[in-house]
Amino acid sequence: MDEISRTQCAMSSDPENGRIVSVAVPVPLRRAFDYATDTDIEPGTRVLIPFRNRKLVGVVLPNSPSASTRSLKPILRVLDGEPAVSPLMLEFFLWASGYYHHPVGEVIQAALPPPLRKAVALYDPDTARYFSRNEDIPDDVAMAQLARAPKQKQLYRCLASGQCMNLNELARLPELHDAGHLSSVMRNLVKRGLIIATGRPSGVIVPFAGTLNPEQRKALSRIEESAGHYCSHVLHGITGSGKTEIYLHSIENCLEAGKQALVLVPEISLTPQLVERFTNRFGNRVHCYHSGMNPAQRYRTWWKARNGTAGVVLGTRSAIFAPIRNLGRIIVDEEHDLSYKQLDGFRYHARDMSIKRASLEKVPIILGSATPSMESMENVQTGKYRISRLRRRTGKANLPEIELIDLRKQPARDGLSTRLVEVLGQQLAENKQTILYINRRGYAPVAECPQCQWRSSCDRCDAYMTYHKISARLRCHHCGRIARKPDYCPQCRSELFFRGAGTQRIEEALGRLFPDARVFRFDRDKLGTFRKLQHTLESINSGKADIIVGTRLISKGHDFPKVTLVGVINPDPGLYSVDFRAPEQLFQELVQVAGRAGRGKDPGRVLIQTTHPDNAYMEMVRHQQFDDFFRICREERRTARVPPFSHMALWRAESRRPEAGLEFLERIRRQGKNLAISMNLTSMQIMDPVSSPMERMDDRYRAQLLVKSSCRGQLHRVLAPWAEWVENASSGKRLRWSLDVDPMEMC
Ligand code: ADP
Ligand code: ZN
Ligand code: ZN
Repeated sequence: MDEISRTQCAMSSDPENGRIVSVAVPVPLRRAFDYATDTDIEPGTRVLIPFRNRKLVGVVLPNSPSASTRSLKPILRVLDGEPAVSPLMLEFFLWASGYYHHPVGEVIQAALPPPLRKAVALYDPDTARYFSRNEDIPDDVAMAQLARAPKQKQLYRCLASGQCMNLNELARLPELHDAGHLSSVMRNLVKRGLIIATGRPSGVIVPFAGTLNPEQRKALSRIEESAGHYCSHVLHGITGSGKTEIYLHSIENCLEAGKQALVLVPEISLTPQLVERFTNRFGNRVHCYHSGMNPAQRYRTWWKARNGTAGVVLGTRSAIFAPIRNLGRIIVDEEHDLSYKQLDGFRYHARDMSIKRASLEKVPIILGSATPSMESMENVQTGKYRISRLRRRTGKANLPEIELIDLRKQPARDGLSTRLVEVLGQQLAENKQTILYINRRGYAPVAECPQCQWRSSCDRCDAYMTYHKISARLRCHHCGRIARKPDYCPQCRSELFFRGAGTQRIEEALGRLFPDARVFRFDRDKLGTFRKLQHTLESINSGKADIIVGTRLISKGHDFPKVTLVGVINPDPGLYSVDFRAPEQLFQELVQVAGRAGRGKDPGRVLIQTTHPDNAYMEMVRHQQFDDFFRICREERRTARVPPFSHMALWRAESRRPEAGLEFLERIRRQGKNLAISMNLTSMQIMDPVSSPMERMDDRYRAQLLVKSSCRGQLHRVLAPWAEWVENASSGKRLRWSLDVDPMEMC
């Protein structure tokens, strides 16, 4: 770090009285930086510091700084009167930084809500946020006082006696649309003492109306036994078996003991329906935390988590950073879900971080899933985690029957086989709802010329551009490139042919086959916003849809009680993937979508179209046998020595020049070999650098280098000095590199 002379400093550090603190700075460097200060600053406090030519917000670490007497730059400002980050959360972040070998400053930056990444002091978002009338002042007295303040009077009137509202809620009232600047009007009312700013009264718990079944009771009591100390519980329950109900019971106990709960769900499961299920039970003690919220909302949840007033923090991956003061339970729903892994920047896995957090906080954690991950199941096998099982659906619902349609015997037209079309006809005749699942947006994944073999390749990626018929465009789903669809083959002017099917093509074919059916398309192109999604869900559940054609978006979380048939259009790509996790992901995906059928009182069935009906995994899906699946998958992983039977890290590099990434990774490989030898780490396996499966993406060439070890400790011991070496060896901005510890995608 470049240093400025002491005379230039606004605040000099006297070597006798001055102190030195170690600060986590949000820069991509794997170290902390020392600064001078003449006051005591507690670890966890945010400070404004000079860094190169910028001013940055850093957090004081508990590390002992290097005791050097050289003149250091002084801290510019202590931003808060108290630490924003508690000692436990600091320990958590330092652990994460060490485990993922990611710069601590960036870890902490990712964990803070956006407003705190700037040089503003901590503030209580609640003061003056909610307002109610001062009930000590009679109405007529108030009205007399406001006789000559029409705007204040109008606002006062809108806030009825006994009500408690915030400015956003007030602004939505039709009477107040032209009330000018509500906040300044409100400020005057508060000044007069007519209105009081308060917090919102805390919610009441509405108890469960039913009774838990014996399996649920058993699972709950096993979990609750461990209240007050760390224990990981896998809750393995088929779809619709009442897992969520167990979460709610456990949270209720937790709240009654005066503690807070953290609930993580996958991104696409955090639906209005789910939030409602929580708020119906715990009222406004429930606070959401996810990246779709605006910075002020996120800060509000962060604040309430930290001061103990948020009873339940419900969020996606990033909610693991919520600074819950008095944590009693952690729940990770669909713990196997890939969206828990952050794919860029600080590449953490929120489930794995949750387990660490539970152990630091000494609280039980529930890992719920119908298809638990191989990693979690292995921890059950070795006795590290406990497991409870729910084998039956609640109420009268049964698991749907699954039938495989052999596409070799009856080819599909526009993605639909005759058998599927026939059953769809029956469904419509009986007025029953159907979901058709196809994990592909657009009309067709590739346009091609039957004469000259031209294909709709993307200029910037090793991939084809998808044809979107509705917008008449070709789109690359990897880099976002959009092109007009050519009317004829650009090379030989022949008519183009569209291979494969996406949601739009299925939707169109259904329109032709069943002109009277009400077909809803459920994909990212159609449902841009949360509100649109909510609206569509409501329409579906009120019976306005006959057939819903949807992508992964529809496969999770949603409870569609009227759906009795699920058709899976094309699961086969999952069978061809080279990724060792592909069978696991295919099994999880198919069990999830199948689980959408027959959740109400009518029994459900599932039709899966495939060209591989005799594939062993397809067979297991058909029988919905998780235990068999787990046994066989486990054997395969053990033989192949892949996770959970080994531990991995993946170096990635990307560059404009094709060879640059591979060359850099080769230098990294050699350094790693030397380190492993000199540190006597015999379990390390360092592969050769290779091009990524999709080498070119967005005009960058991508390469990777896999590192494997049977011993997690050895892997981490070599990664620490290795990452530091790479950080120093990397040359400028032309080449991007990253390190992914426990990679979930090998591409
Ligand atoms: P999962 O989370 O395993 O998919 P849910 O907890 O959502 O299952 O339960 C499925 C449905 O059954 C929900 O509508 C839920 O309200 C209901 N349910 C859960 N437990 C019971 C019970 N013990 N008695 C009656 N209904 C229940
Ligand atoms: Zn052609
Ligand atoms: Zn592209």
